[in-house]
Amino acid sequence: MDTYPLQYDMPLFRPPSEARSLIFQVTLGCSWNRCAFCEMYPDKPFKVKNEKVIREEITKTAAVFPHAGKIFLADGNAMVLSFKRLQNILNLINQAFPEVTRISSYALPQDILLKSIKELVQLKKNGLKLIYVGIESGDDELLKLVNKGETSESTVNGLRKAKEAGIKTSVMILTGLGGKKYLEQHAINSAKIVNLTKPDYLSTLVLMFPQGISHYKKRFAGTYIPMTIEDTLNEMKLFLSHTELERTIFRSDHASNYLTLKGTLSRDKEQFLDKIKNAIQSPREVGIRPEWLRGL
Ligand code: SF4
Repeated sequence: MDTYPLQYDMPLFRPPSEARSLIFQVTLGCSWNRCAFCEMYPDKPFKVKNEKVIREEITKTAAVFPHAGKIFLADGNAMVLSFKRLQNILNLINQAFPEVTRISSYALPQDILLKSIKELVQLKKNGLKLIYVGIESGDDELLKLVNKGETSESTVNGLRKAKEAGIKTSVMILTGLGGKKYLEQHAINSAKIVNLTKPDYLSTLVLMFPQGISHYKKRFAGTYIPMTIEDTLNEMKLFLSHTELERTIFRSDHASNYLTLKGTLSRDKEQFLDKIKNAIQSPREVGIRPEWLRGL
């Protein structure tokens, strides 16, 4: 659309559920940018965007889309901004978009932990209602091998702090992250971490190798043994079977997943496990996405 008022600094990523949201890039890249599996911002150094530029973009966009209801703050972890900076941005958004119902962003657990509960409550009051956190794994050994820069403890503490402030959490687990060697501990400890933090939303993505598997092997600080589709489904089965959740909305519908599962945990847990079991037994008949069948 030629009247679109924003010039994005590419690449731009957002969670699938923010497909219809307005996006403002308030930071560029990721302040950590060192995870072994991540190919999101290899050539995009982290930068905090100038406040004057952000103000102009918000004002210009509001003139074109005054009724925007959902707004996502990009890039990789806008929550790294100081409380004061975030507060100013939320105030500008609230003034410019009177109908806004939800503002969200990606966050690292450390970004949350650097803010006080009082500050997080204030951000929530100003519209920051949802944060997306890539947990990737609940297994400390694996978090270290992929250089995640977080531990299971920092992740639990960060997510609990956000929850205590009333901010909803949407978390991601990366299936296949440790390969065959770490399959079991990755699945079981990832279930443990989601049980401890009870996120509002949980999704799984399957590890992909956009730069090739040898590139990942070089960056992985352990022995990475590739997994078959069956291994991946087994890991998913083990993970889900260890979850003990009450009202977490679960999705494995990202294009990387071999099998689409959507529902609520634990209500739909048995149904998910049956579906995975059937897909392992009869992949050509049950549910495996056709684009993946050639890999079997
Ligand atoms: S924290 Fe997220 S965006 Fe940053 S390098 Fe790791 S996976 Fe990529």
